[in-house]
Amino acid sequence: TEACLSAIDAAGALNAFVHHTPDMARDMAQAADARIKAGNAAALTGIPLGIKDVFCVKGVPSQAASRILEGFRPEYESTVTQNLWNAGAVMLGKLNQDEFAMGSANESSCYGPAVNPWKVDDRQLTPGGSSGGSAAAVAADLCLAATGTDTGGSIRQPAAFTGIVGLKPTYGRVSRWGVIAYASSLDQAGPMTKTVRDAAIMLGAMASVDPQDSTSADHPVPDYESLLTGDIRGKRIGIPREYRLDGMPAEIDALWHKGAEMLRDAGAEIVDISLPHTKYALPAYYVIAPAEASSNLARYDGVRYGHRAKLGQGDGITEMYEKTRAEGFGPEVQRRVMIGTYVLSAGFYDAYYNRARKVRALIKRDFDNVFAEGIDAILAPTTPTAAFGIGAMDSSDPVQMYLNDVFTVTLNLVGLPGIAVPVGLDKKGLPLGLQMFGKPFQEDELLNHALVLE
Ligand code: GLN
Repeated sequence: TEACLSAIDAAGALNAFVHHTPDMARDMAQAADARIKAGNAAALTGIPLGIKDVFCVKGVPSQAASRILEGFRPEYESTVTQNLWNAGAVMLGKLNQDEFAMGSANESSCYGPAVNPWKVDDRQLTPGGSSGGSAAAVAADLCLAATGTDTGGSIRQPAAFTGIVGLKPTYGRVSRWGVIAYASSLDQAGPMTKTVRDAAIMLGAMASVDPQDSTSADHPVPDYESLLTGDIRGKRIGIPREYRLDGMPAEIDALWHKGAEMLRDAGAEIVDISLPHTKYALPAYYVIAPAEASSNLARYDGVRYGHRAKLGQGDGITEMYEKTRAEGFGPEVQRRVMIGTYVLSAGFYDAYYNRARKVRALIKRDFDNVFAEGIDAILAPTTPTAAFGIGAMDSSDPVQMYLNDVFTVTLNLVGLPGIAVPVGLDKKGLPLGLQMFGKPFQEDELLNHALVLE
């Protein structure tokens, strides 16, 4: 814990931690010591963790990197963080992210961008987003592991950009209670770690059946670490042809081949598969996610939480709402609230939201079909490129940024588990990763495949 606290102090330039809790960390580390001495250590006793700002931690600022939640200190603890503390983990502080987890470069944060510890010629790179602070902190050894959330890739894409492991569990595996909501049918919390084994241990501690989350799945949580054998003999791995995009860099394609070879060498069978509706995933996601976000973010009205605008003479409640939301939400969040409100409006609901829901069902059927044909897991690239420069995306063209999510959003639409693993470096020396998708609630199997790629 002390080593991490010093490392955090020395690495301020990464802007990974946005709120430090050293007193809490030392108290928790002491309690962990006592627990070890008493001989009742649990899975994470004494392990110092960073927590993404989107998780409510009792008494600690929890703003989802938004100005609108300025001054908000939750009265309650998210189920995930409570589970981690119960397992003995130590809280180092809150980690940077995109505002309300909307973004792929950690640039929409009210705290400014987090910085990738990997560099090329002194050029500052993004650690990805939205869990950019988590990725940067784990990659720079500021904590032993971190929590992330993944609505459309926010665990896996930053993991790929920083050379770490990121796991998005099956929807419902990890409780969403106390996690500030972005898009409720897509959001899922998961671990961001240095190794696959760490991901197994962290997932076991984070996951639980939670009556406080109506979408929490009633499946017992296995001991993922003890199930980790790396034995994938006889497994059938699908290579989805629709993920081979025109103009994809040759090195991403080469990495994908290398990953398939590693799995084959471990005794798996590699099979070409088709997921024919893949190309509709990104547009469907960018209808559904903003729709749910516009509904979830309606609660930030200047009355119940955080920031409230200063009012002028004669301003009534409508002006209070308008001014508060105009000041409190950044431009990307405002854009999504507007898109979401539009696609849910009476005149356009069928044309956009309902159609996107139907497309989502078709995408789900693609996966059901390949699993019914005996495929056990699917291998694909995590991102179409390695980490890009901070500010490299043109903010007047948000679609450019959305395209970065082309390989990740599908998984959230279908609720399946996925894991991103670092597999190689590009010619500039930056990390590149592959991801694997698995069957519902078979994270244990997925971790075994990932172990082979590590
Ligand atoms: N980049 C995607 C978005 O902006 C995904 C973000 C996430 O997974 N939270 O919506």
